[in-house]
Amino acid sequence: MSDCYELLIIGGGPAGLTAAIYAARAGLRFALVELDGWGGGQISAALQVNNYPGLPGITGAELGERIRQQALDLGTEILCGQVSRITKENGIFSVETEEGETFQAKAVITALGASPAKLGVPGEEKAGVSYCAVCDGEFYAGKPVAVIGGGDAGVEDALYLSNICPQVTLLLRRDVFRAAQSRVKLLEERSNVTILRKTQAVELQGEGRVTGIRTVSQGTEGAFSCQGVFIAVGTLPTTECLAGFPGLLDENGYVLAGESGETAIPGLFAAGDAREKPLRQITTAVADGANAATSAAAYLQNLLTEE
Ligand code: NAP
Repeated sequence: MSDCYELLIIGGGPAGLTAAIYAARAGLRFALVELDGWGGGQISAALQVNNYPGLPGITGAELGERIRQQALDLGTEILCGQVSRITKENGIFSVETEEGETFQAKAVITALGASPAKLGVPGEEKAGVSYCAVCDGEFYAGKPVAVIGGGDAGVEDALYLSNICPQVTLLLRRDVFRAAQSRVKLLEERSNVTILRKTQAVELQGEGRVTGIRTVSQGTEGAFSCQGVFIAVGTLPTTECLAGFPGLLDENGYVLAGESGETAIPGLFAAGDAREKPLRQITTAVADGANAATSAAAYLQNLLTEE
């Protein structure tokens, strides 16, 4: 059991790190808890970020590292651990980790992020299925691959893979993309990219390892060969550790909190992709981090005046 901090921030992505920058500037006694001491979150997998103001074209890894360095330079203490449970008793939050440690604080900001959603079709457990082209793409260099999903992640994955694979087939379940049009246009111009619209993958085929995809397109069955499948069908919030707080999460597991980050639990704040909100971007994650830390500082100041 550690000493009681004023504030614990859970998560080392852009939201958590920005909350740390603001907590440091507010003079709070705080620490940031993250999985492995490296942090980054989903941003690390973004090959190119074109919508972060002032830094067009920066890689996700570099942007993440710059935000992280800024937080460290301001004195952020990093605690490593996978948070399994957060509880509150007598006004003090306990943050328990899978590794068996418990950290305590008067306030907590959860910046828990999200992880890739599963497609949910037979064969998804096979070798040759990945959820991150930047992480695993090199294993498929020179081989035909498929990407499933037409959001920013799917389009970025397909663009990345089109530079190293002879053939990239992108499956879109509707006939329109969710991704930024400028990036879709770039993809459409690539001669080795085929876009199959209104097409659903219904099975990932192969003995042990993926060799093809069975599809249905407007009622018609089809199939094509590929040696790797990259699934990019959205993300799910990683908020299981908050399950003990009734009414805190919506039906999809996102934390219910307004723009200030305040939740229904006094002293508990939420920031980033795991917060229920209409737009999940790095820009909105860093804004959330700033708001949540400012709200937490105000909450802690109020506690002091009450004591
Ligand atoms: P997303 O925007 O939710 O897109 C998910 C895509 O997968 C959509 O095309 C969706 O189709 C499709 N899909 C969902 N379930 C499916 C299923 N069962 N079968 C087939 N297709 C399915 O998710 P994302 O691309 O992971 O992006 C998440 C957030 O991160 C977004 O806010 C995005 O802007 C952001 N992001 C930004 C960048 C960047 O700026 N560089 C990179 C990656 C992600 P429908 O459209 O039909 O629902």
